[in-house]
Amino acid sequence: MEYEAVIGLETHVQLKTKSKMWCGCANAFGAEPNTNVCPVCLGMPGVLPVANEEALRLTVLTGLLLNCEIPPSAKFDRKNYFYPDVAKNYQVTQYDRPSTRNGYLEFEFNGALSRVRITRAHLEEDVGKNFHFERTSGVDFNRAGVPLLEIVSEPDLTSPDQAYEYLNALKDVLVYGGVSDCDMEKGMVRCDVNVSVRPKGMKELGAKIEIKNMNSFSGVRRAIEYEIPRQIEVVKTGGKLIQSTRRWDDTAGITEEMRTKEHAHDYRYFPEPDLMPFEPDAKWLEEISARVVELPLARKQRFIRDYQLPAGDAEVFKNDVPLGNYFEPLAKRSKNPKAIANWVINNLRAKLSEANEKSAVDEMLVEAEAAQRAQAITLADLKFQPEAVLELVALVDSKTISTSAAQQVFAEMFETGKSPAAIVKDKGLAQVSDTGAIEKFCDEAIAANPNSVADYKNGKVAALNFLKGQVMKLSKGKANPALVGEMLEKKLKG
Ligand code: ADP
Ligand code: MG
Ligand code: ZN
Repeated sequence: MEYEAVIGLETHVQLKTKSKMWCGCANAFGAEPNTNVCPVCLGMPGVLPVANEEALRLTVLTGLLLNCEIPPSAKFDRKNYFYPDVAKNYQVTQYDRPSTRNGYLEFEFNGALSRVRITRAHLEEDVGKNFHFERTSGVDFNRAGVPLLEIVSEPDLTSPDQAYEYLNALKDVLVYGGVSDCDMEKGMVRCDVNVSVRPKGMKELGAKIEIKNMNSFSGVRRAIEYEIPRQIEVVKTGGKLIQSTRRWDDTAGITEEMRTKEHAHDYRYFPEPDLMPFEPDAKWLEEISARVVELPLARKQRFIRDYQLPAGDAEVFKNDVPLGNYFEPLAKRSKNPKAIANWVINNLRAKLSEANEKSAVDEMLVEAEAAQRAQAITLADLKFQPEAVLELVALVDSKTISTSAAQQVFAEMFETGKSPAAIVKDKGLAQVSDTGAIEKFCDEAIAANPNSVADYKNGKVAALNFLKGQVMKLSKGKANPALVGEMLEKKLKG
């Protein structure tokens, strides 16, 4: 019998706010343990939470970006459990009335569009972090109370690769929307992965196995790659899968059982008595709608459509937003946006990363010094104006300079910021299209290479290229190659 996998993801994302969810403590990564704390986020008795309005806004904004409904009323609940990372013994979350629900996310996968339904995106709070030392353990509460969005997908995913692409697409949307920086290294995105298998074509879902707290997308993919055949093997050999929770061991590359699944009633959810239900009014919602940006996929599709870009170029601009923003106004003004894209991607981007690699090497050499100047070179630091790229493309398109001369011009304008026209003039790079001058070079080349001339006349077409090369050399690379070809042919045939 053939089996298929069913996957649903619960993704936790730290919101990009200045302060925490219920208090004024900084929402900042990397501070000394327990320095961004106060009685509220340490769960002292008698304190009251005050909701962070920007976190509420970012939650609703995410809902809009993910095509969700925004219910007229949402509320907060306490999820009770006992564990050292939660000083209050409960986590505030949204249980039965989330701030957003019933949306979807679309992304490209295997050359087609995948649409994964989003069950809900609800607001909760992060908890502290446990550390284990040789003889003791400690808890850092800096993270406790950081606004956390939980984005729950329907079980619409069917493969490890698709789950991986979903996560990347989700991250792109959240970064584009300014909802979260999604810095994986800083633990800003964590994911619970739910996997089940069932006989192909069967309607009912198999027993859900949840792999908890994954912190890298490639880890998620590997865990699913491991988990699917493991589950299939269990059912094929007559075993029974039961709903349970597993842990991913990244070094061993396996999942192992932690516990059979807890149920919602184990948490004794109840409404948070210290917070009012959240009922956004029309004006507030309108302000948030104004913050909705174009989504990454839509941007890619628009770049392909409006500027006739190949998908690969549009993908680059989707992933590198500043580069795309640099490209677009130029493309709008150019007759040849494809050429603009080529220069921006193949030359400008390459030069920038070359320059940044150089400074990275310096950095390794003199660490202390580098700390001060290790700033990466960005588009904002360029010495030339964006219009110079337009000008350069126009010079090539009008055949004023050859493409190889254009490379020289670009290198020079990158170094010095001089305008392309000035560089062409200073370096004498303008193509010679003057037929008189070209004719003289052609005659010289023909006279100097009688063998090639004979070869060509005997049907060896390649000999023409050789002669063409000779003319280009005589002209110091400045002759217009198309004109040279035409003229040589005319002379040799005539
Ligand atoms: P819980 O209440 O235990 O968290 P939910 O039904 O809310 O469980 O689902 C949590 C996540 O698990 C969702 O992302 C959902 O899509 C996914 N899921 C639910 N059932 C299955 C299943 N049988 N196989 C795979 N994923 C599932
Ligand atoms: Mg769950
Ligand atoms: Zn605090």
